[in-house]
Amino acid sequence: MFQRAAEPPASAAILQDLRSFQEMASVLYVAAHPDDENTLLIAYLARGKNYRTAYLSVTRGDGGQNVLGPDFDEKLGVARTQELLAARRLDGGRQFFTRAIDFGFSKDYRETLNIWGKDEVLSDVVRVIRTFRPDVIITRFSTQPGGTHGHHTASAVLALEAFKLAGDTNAYPDQLKTLAPWQPKRILMNGRGDGTLRMEINGNDPVSGLSFGDLAGRSRSMHKTQGFGNLAAVAGARGRNLFSFSLVQQLRMTFSKAWIPRGRAFRRREHRQARGRNHCSVQPAKPRRKRACFVEIASPARFAENDRPAGC
Ligand SMILES: [Zn+2]
Repeated sequence: MFQRAAEPPASAAILQDLRSFQEMASVLYVAAHPDDENTLLIAYLARGKNYRTAYLSVTRGDGGQNVLGPDFDEKLGVARTQELLAARRLDGGRQFFTRAIDFGFSKDYRETLNIWGKDEVLSDVVRVIRTFRPDVIITRFSTQPGGTHGHHTASAVLALEAFKLAGDTNAYPDQLKTLAPWQPKRILMNGRGDGTLRMEINGNDPVSGLSFGDLAGRSRSMHKTQGFGNLAAVAGARGRNLFSFSLVQQLRMTFSKAWIPRGRAFRRREHRQARGRNHCSVQPAKPRRKRACFVEIASPARFAENDRPAGC
């Protein structure tokens, strides 16, 4: 029933697709459970900015509550999967999962990763990044433990590790039979306190005419097994539109001062290799010395450890 109610008009979906074709930017939002995601941000990025936007829910919420009936565990996971898909049809995002099971509350993210099987779930996150190819990853939670569900912290830890690995050809090479390595440019944490960047989301979706707050509320109301299927969720989405983003890590272009032998053919080959490998511009060659381009993952000067969103 909720799937049918969530379907947008076909004409609106086509118009949104046409608008999205004009934009190349893409964002992957990562958290642990259905309902952890920032639906207002997803609606704004997907429908307001026309970015390719997706939510990776590490679990399907199998261990959560169900106010609609007696189904739990796997059956609840199926229901909450459908709720997330219905939510994305409203806010315009895409939806990904990993194989991780929501086994209930966990105090410690290390316990969570042990139960999940860290390497397997990490490989799933890397696969999602290589499949969706986001420019930016946004985590809902901090990688620093404390004050929230172990699943939440684990989702951020996995996102950060996958950020470092997805562009590495030595990481999960079996995936590279069908996928290419992909290196996002930066990973941010989405909070509500101080952050490197603050964003206030207002305005309306130009296709439907609905405000982003209304869209987000309708999207969130798809979480019916958790009791969000009422208009209170819509009203609750309004007024919660100021968000902060703290830089966790970013890709930084650096230049080595390497001696390069003379010879135009050699220099041209170096240029091609550097450009193809890193998608960055190369410094022009000097008579006897040029700068080779390479990339490194660098920690930013600031990491807002205290900016932790409230757990759900
Ligand atoms: Zn959660």
